[in-house]
Amino acid sequence: MAFVHKQRPLPPAELLEANEIKFLAAGELVQWALATFIVEEASLRNDDHSHLNQANIGALWTNVPNGRSGRSIIGQAERGLPPAGKWLRARIERQILDWFGDVPDFILTFDAHYASQCSDAEFCALVEHELYHCGQERDMFGQPKFRRSGLPAFTIRGHDVEEFVGVVRRYGADAAGVRALIDAANKGPEVANVHIAQACGTCRLRVA
Ligand SMILES: [Zn+2]
Repeated sequence: MAFVHKQRPLPPAELLEANEIKFLAAGELVQWALATFIVEEASLRNDDHSHLNQANIGALWTNVPNGRSGRSIIGQAERGLPPAGKWLRARIERQILDWFGDVPDFILTFDAHYASQCSDAEFCALVEHELYHCGQERDMFGQPKFRRSGLPAFTIRGHDVEEFVGVVRRYGADAAGVRALIDAANKGPEVANVHIAQACGTCRLRVA
């Protein structure tokens, strides 16, 4: 994929070879994601992520396998700090500060072994899947919400569409509210056709 911005970042070899639990801050991955999908002149720019121009995003590589019932989880998106007890939250905050220097709006975690061997198209689909979880709250009229500071009100976003195939088969795309999905699928992929069997830790669904 010549249109991918520069060489995509790869997890460091020390992480792949380590036997101990490791999480490494991946600043180069965030820079690459910004340059590829988010900033004005991004090579694969996607307007859906435009609020992330104002987001503080942290990324981690990990060598810790994740998943259940035979399906591996290869990526995850979270808010910076989890709601938790005082010491647990403070302990996590200390660790986050050591990685990033501040507490990001979103933290993305990627499986280093998967990221080291997947194709550019699969990597793009995985990173964009996680970026789609990094959403902006909407008001009752569907307009994007902002904080008093003027920054977007960030939130973890779920899926646009959840419907039974049978309902679509029997009542159609409009009745089932999946018209936008059908239209997007019929147009064909803008970037590349990929098939990823592994899952995302945020939504537990297949990444692409
Ligand atoms: Zn997901």
